[in-house]
Amino acid sequence: MTGSYDFKRWAGDWWQTPKGHWSTAATAPADWKTKSVFLSCPACGEVASLPHAVDQEGRVTPSVVCPNGPKCPMHLSPVRLLEWNLGTKPSDR
Ligand SMILES: [Zn+2]
Repeated sequence: MTGSYDFKRWAGDWWQTPKGHWSTAATAPADWKTKSVFLSCPACGEVASLPHAVDQEGRVTPSVVCPNGPKCPMHLSPVRLLEWNLGTKPSDR
């Protein structure tokens, strides 16, 4: 699974994030550098935190690969987080 992808918003608990959705840890501090953003792989459903940068419009850079790889071939670019309202997120790396 490759190409562009739009992740939908999941407002429930992050560990239950459904395939192809993004979420945040509700208990995380409002300070955004420490706030965790999670993605659920649209191919295999693996939920993992996202260290990437996100811009004001929810565009993620650089491309996103599944942490299950090479078992999971998911490699997505460009990636967008729909209903993103958390401002600009710097890369955690
Ligand atoms: Zn995967």
